[in-house]
Amino acid sequence: NEPLLAVDDLHVEFHTRAGVVRAVNGVSYTVRAGETLAVLGESGSGKSVTAQAIMGILDMPPAVIPKGEIRFKGTDVLKLSERDRTQVRGERIAMIFQDALSALNPVFTVGWQISEMFRVHRGMSKGAAMKKAVELMDRVRIPAAKQRVHDYPHQFSGGMRQRIMIAMSIALDPEVLIADEPTTALDVTVQAQIMELLAELQRESQMGLILITHDLGVVADVADKIAVMYGGRIVENAPVHDIYKAPAHPYTKGLLDSIPRVDQKGQELYAIKGLPPNLLSMPTGCAFHPRCPYRQENCVTDTPPLYEISGTRGSACHYWREVLDGERQ
Ligand code: SF4
Ligand code: MG
Repeated sequence: NEPLLAVDDLHVEFHTRAGVVRAVNGVSYTVRAGETLAVLGESGSGKSVTAQAIMGILDMPPAVIPKGEIRFKGTDVLKLSERDRTQVRGERIAMIFQDALSALNPVFTVGWQISEMFRVHRGMSKGAAMKKAVELMDRVRIPAAKQRVHDYPHQFSGGMRQRIMIAMSIALDPEVLIADEPTTALDVTVQAQIMELLAELQRESQMGLILITHDLGVVADVADKIAVMYGGRIVENAPVHDIYKAPAHPYTKGLLDSIPRVDQKGQELYAIKGLPPNLLSMPTGCAFHPRCPYRQENCVTDTPPLYEISGTRGSACHYWREVLDGERQ
């Protein structure tokens, strides 16, 4: 029962003038058909770089992948020929980005841009491809799709543009969809609608979905499992319910405590103190130690491995038991 996509001990380095930046440092995660994995972390945690490595859109060089595998249905895409690789990335695995406006071309109608997927990749005629574009716009619930295929990107709202991006990303029926902060540029109501749309599309097609976000609140309702990243590593992974019930890493606990909760109206929100680590000079031992309320002496010297808590859960904290036992405030 091999997962659709398996990232296995992935390392990504950037060789810069200032030194080697270890942006991804031994990351492993999997996603199966019909499953949603949320990858959570601050900017610089390595969550986007991991996705870019999967899609093959890292700048190479300075980016180097010294170690690790990215297996799609059992085959390491890093070892595929250029041609096979292009076929996998973009067709079998697709990606949507935060900024729909800059990803769309302002001088072509959205219908033209969506239908291009079918003309280029499926060799369809203009008319047939345009018909498919209308179908797709319907599928991502853009009202009056038949008329609106002739409109330009600037004629749509931010939420509708993101729907157009989603339409393009699912045009070729990918098996895995990666969404990197797909709703960050949108207001809260629209965020929820886009998440709901992604969840619906996934249910219909049984895609594996990877949602990359800094906002735990946004993915709570749609994710099956969560991988929390910090300083280029996964610090906690678990089924979503386990994490909400009781986090097993102080960083996850901090993220949870900083989500606004309806039952705590008026109370001041908790914020994790301090700054994310500088990847050029990572803290010794546990990278989270400068910010950690649970820190003990050995945390400064001993890097915690990802301790296995159960078959589906891990935490990279020496004191995960204490964190797990602590009542959420
Ligand atoms: Fe905090 Fe230590 Fe756990 Fe790191 S290993 S998260 S510093 S308690
Ligand atoms: Mg990012």
